[in-house]
Amino acid sequence: MKPEEILKKYQLKITNARIKVLELFQNHNFALSQPFLEKNIELIDRVTLYRTLNTFEEIGLIHKVIDDSFTLKYALCSEVCLHQNNHKHEHIHFQCVKCNQTTCLDVKIPLIKLPEGYQIEEYHFSMKGICKNCVI
Ligand SMILES: [Zn+2]
Ligand SMILES: [Zn+2]
Ligand SMILES: [Zn+2]
Repeated sequence: MKPEEILKKYQLKITNARIKVLELFQNHNFALSQPFLEKNIELIDRVTLYRTLNTFEEIGLIHKVIDDSFTLKYALCSEVCLHQNNHKHEHIHFQCVKCNQTTCLDVKIPLIKLPEGYQIEEYHFSMKGICKNCVI
């Protein structure tokens, strides 16, 4: 889907910044960090970028990806990701030790049972290893 169409579908105003951010996500199949986005989108200031990412996350277009690189990353949500106020993801993130890219894997996190008295608010499941592009 074209960025313009996606923005329309989510009833967002079409702005240049939003289109550029969406395009960048569509052109990469790994999670993108804020510094990466800043570097690759010209003429967009930090505040606008920050706000754009926040809006996209709120409506369920992108989700947070946490790995051990200490930079917050985001990845596009799949088409079926509809969760207005409860943005949770139950798939696994895979961080490659060679190319250092983190990708969303279409693998569900198994149900984890906690001891009594513990309540989960959010969880992130990430793995490290060698991705399919880096396996020789
Ligand atoms: Zn999502
Ligand atoms: Zn790799
Ligand atoms: Zn993901």
